[in-house]
Amino acid sequence: MNRNILLTPGPTMIPSEVREALGRPIIHHRTPQFQNNIKEAIEGLRYVFQTKNEIYLLTCSGTGAMEASVCNLLSPGDKAIVVEGGKFGERWVELCEAYGIEAKVIHVPWGKAVQPRQVEELLSANKDAKAVFITQTETSTAVLTDVKAIADVVKKTNAVLVVDCVSGLAANDLQTDEWGVDVVVSASHKGFMLPPGLAFVSVSSKAYKLVETSTNRRYYFDLRESKKAFAQTDTPFTPAIGIVIGLVESLKLIKKAGLENWFAHQALLAQGTREAIKALGLSLYTHPSCFSNALTAVNVPAGIDGDKLVKILRDEHGVTMTGGQSELKGKIFRVAHMGCVCEEDIITGISFLEKVLEQLGYKFNQQAGVKTAQKVFNVKKTGV
Ligand code: PMP
Repeated sequence: MNRNILLTPGPTMIPSEVREALGRPIIHHRTPQFQNNIKEAIEGLRYVFQTKNEIYLLTCSGTGAMEASVCNLLSPGDKAIVVEGGKFGERWVELCEAYGIEAKVIHVPWGKAVQPRQVEELLSANKDAKAVFITQTETSTAVLTDVKAIADVVKKTNAVLVVDCVSGLAANDLQTDEWGVDVVVSASHKGFMLPPGLAFVSVSSKAYKLVETSTNRRYYFDLRESKKAFAQTDTPFTPAIGIVIGLVESLKLIKKAGLENWFAHQALLAQGTREAIKALGLSLYTHPSCFSNALTAVNVPAGIDGDKLVKILRDEHGVTMTGGQSELKGKIFRVAHMGCVCEEDIITGISFLEKVLEQLGYKFNQQAGVKTAQKVFNVKKTGV
C-alpha cells in the first residue's frame, strides 16, 4: 500500500516543487548563493506574516521559537499574561516557569476561545505585565483565537503581544502589522509544507526593546545575535540549509496563488471537512464560534475506540489523522487540512473514515460524508 495521505497537524505533506528543491545537492551557507536564498525566504515570509518587521530563521522546531520569545523578551521575576486553552497554551505556561517568569494564567475551557475582555481585565489588574502570550490555532482543540481583537487590547498597553502561530499561519489570516502583533512564532512543518527543523520569529520594534533590556541568560536562541547576523544576510550558526532552500519554493507557491486565495482554499477544505463529519452524524469538538481553517476536531462517538480508529486508518489505508492529546486522548480525533492538502485528499480521507467507522460498528448514512464533501467542493472553487 503506497498511499500516504497526511491529514495531520504537522508534519504536513510536501508538494513536488518543494521536494525537488529539498533534493538538490547541498550548498555551503556562507556563500552568495545561500544569501540569495535567505533574502528570498525572508521576503516571502514577510508576505505571509504580513509584516515589515524583522523575521529571524531559527534552526529548531516550533517550541524552540516559543522558547526564544520567552527567554529574549523577559527577565527572571517579570510578569506575563498567558492564555491557556489547550496543550500549547500550557507550553507557554511551562516555558514561563522554566525561565522564572510569573505567569498570570487565563484558563479557558478547552474547545472554546478566550474572550478579549478577559485579557483586558487581567492586563488592567497587572499593569506591570510585560507580555501577553496567546495561541492563534490551539492545535490540541482546533480553536482559533481572535488575534485581532486581543491585539486591539494589548496595543493600548506597555505589554507586547506574542502569538504562537506554529500551526495556524498560512491557514488563517494574520495581519501582523495592521493588527499590531509584536511577536509571531511559526515553524516549517505545518502550513509551510516543509520537513520539521526550521522556525521563524518576527519581532516588532516595541518587542525588540525588551530583547535589548532582558537580563536573561541565553546563547543559541539569543535574538541579538540573530539581528546582527540577518543584517548581513547571514545566520549566527549553521542553518537548516536544505529546508531554507525548500522554503523559498513553498513560499513561491503561496505567493503565486495569492494569500487571499490561499486562505479561501484552506477555509473551503475546512468547511468541506466539517460538513462531511456532520453528515456522518458525528459532532465537532470545537465551539462553532472559533473554528480554525487549519484542522477539525471531532468527538469520538460513544462505543467507538478512537485510538483504534486512527490506527486502522493509518496502518491499513494509508490515511493519517491524529488522536486527542492530554485529557482529550481517546475522546477526539483530528483531521488537519493545512498546507497542500487538496479536495481529493479530504474526499479520500472521509471515504476511508466511513469504511473504518462501519468496520467498528458505527451506524450512519453510508456515503453521506463523501457526498457532502463533494457537494461543498463542487459549489465553491477557489482556483488553488
Ligand atoms: N504550538 C502549536 C500551536 C503547535 O501545534 C505545535 C506543534 N504541534 C507547537 C507549538 C510545537 O511545535 P514543535 O512540535 O514543532 O516544537
